[in-house]
Amino acid sequence: MSDIIDRANDQAQEELERNLAKAARFDTPSLTECIECGEDIPERRQRLGGVTRCIDCQSHLESRRH
Ligand SMILES: [Zn+2]
Repeated sequence: MSDIIDRANDQAQEELERNLAKAARFDTPSLTECIECGEDIPERRQRLGGVTRCIDCQSHLESRRH
């Protein structure tokens, strides 16, 4: 039962991320290096558009917001 709810949440989260990526794509080009720590941003992540932080810094930022 909780499996089904988890999966639904995952899908909602994925969709949200896809929409955010789409919205950012044309406004801001991705950086090749993280603005926080200078770490290389993986090319796969750069392709989302508007990416300015590595995954670590981005998740720190997002956990601070909550
Ligand atoms: Zn970083």
